[in-house]
Amino acid sequence: MTYEPVIGLEVHVQLGTKSKLFCSCPTEFGAEPNKNTCPVCLGWPGSLPVLNEKALQLAMKVGLAINSHVSERLKFDRKNYFYPDLPKAYQISQYDMPVNNGGKLVIEGKNEKGEPYKKEIGITRAHLEEDAGKLLHEGIRDGSLVDYNRAGVPLLEIVSEPDLRSPEEAYEYLVALKAILQYLEVSECNMELGELRCDANVSVRKTGETKFGTKAEIKNLNSFKAVQKAIHYEIKRQTDLIEAGERVVQETRLWNDDKSQTFSMRSKEEAHDYRYFPEPDLVPFTISREAVEKIRQTLPELPSQRAERFIKNFGLSEYDAYVLVEDKILANYYEACLSHKVNAKLVSNWIQSELLALLNLNKKTIESSPVKPGALAGLIQLIENNTISGKIAKDVLPLMFETGKSAADIVKEKGWVQVTDTKLIEEVAERIIAANPKSAEDFKAGKEQALGFLVGQLMKETKGKANPKMANEILRKKLIPSS
Ligand SMILES: [Zn+2]
Repeated sequence: MTYEPVIGLEVHVQLGTKSKLFCSCPTEFGAEPNKNTCPVCLGWPGSLPVLNEKALQLAMKVGLAINSHVSERLKFDRKNYFYPDLPKAYQISQYDMPVNNGGKLVIEGKNEKGEPYKKEIGITRAHLEEDAGKLLHEGIRDGSLVDYNRAGVPLLEIVSEPDLRSPEEAYEYLVALKAILQYLEVSECNMELGELRCDANVSVRKTGETKFGTKAEIKNLNSFKAVQKAIHYEIKRQTDLIEAGERVVQETRLWNDDKSQTFSMRSKEEAHDYRYFPEPDLVPFTISREAVEKIRQTLPELPSQRAERFIKNFGLSEYDAYVLVEDKILANYYEACLSHKVNAKLVSNWIQSELLALLNLNKKTIESSPVKPGALAGLIQLIENNTISGKIAKDVLPLMFETGKSAADIVKEKGWVQVTDTKLIEEVAERIIAANPKSAEDFKAGKEQALGFLVGQLMKETKGKANPKMANEILRKKLIPSS
């Protein structure tokens, strides 16, 4: 029996406004506890909320970028629950009339065979709501402490359709969504600061079944990798239960990253448990189509549009284009290299294979890369004008990384300039043929791979400095003069 996972994600993004959603308290991170509070965000009787227009604009901006329909009419609702992190005992959120309805997002994945594929993931809605406060339990002997600085900070909750079918797709969805938010400059998306949070709804069903299985909601996912790992774990847990003839219980589970397991937290509440009702202190209002169009005009080039441009103008493959654009800074780095007039595909290959591997190895990001775009372009120019071979270049880059020197200086110091002297290569070629008569005969008899061996010997003899193309041609001519 095979099983298919069904996954939907709920992503909370903190919108980058200066003040909170319904009051003028600052949203800055790291302030002294309870400093950024006022009667409104503390829920004092008689205080009245006023909607932050900037937050609404940012929410609409995201909506348009993910192909949502921005609602004509907007309403806020009270979501009621009693918990100390919620000073009013309700959260102002949106229920049946969210700011953004529907939408879609395209992810770029790789299947088990490593082949790239594109998939459209539906978006159910993206609504505005206020954040809760923060409870502190650790290191406190009697009771807990609460910090309301975060209470009332604007969040956009983006809910996906249950269209994701693997932990890897969930990961790709988050990467694609984060890229859009980064391009829109609506949020810093720093997961460690809680600016981006994600819950995953996971169920499994027998392959071919159309009905959904019972889902579990997983919380406390602190990184994209944690999301992927937690979903993997949850699929296995649920599949094992079903295989053992047991039932999956609908519940909320917490991910423990240290133990790499999910734990039951509470039975999952339904919408009616929250007693949603319209927020009487904020009257419903309309959003004009002109206002929506005005926001649309402010949209920057989005990742998918940038990828299209990279494919069309630079001849990149779809997969390569997406890898570059999914990180705005990486894509900027790439375009900065191109301003030095180097081959666009070659630069893309060098960034995606050699440079990213080196950065990973040294735990650095593209921002902190010791090799700046101009320097990488300099290295690639040396390959393009045949000063060095691609093979030698792979030895040059780590040295540039280490020393901060230019490619040209390193090549000069090390004496790695490529040998393009025909006479010199001919001399070596003659020696190689004389020393390997068997291979020479094999090639003359039609065994093409024998030439490869001889070229390899020549490269070895010249310590990798001979121009490989010339080495190949010269050897071929020497063995079969008519070729
Ligand atoms: Zn306030």
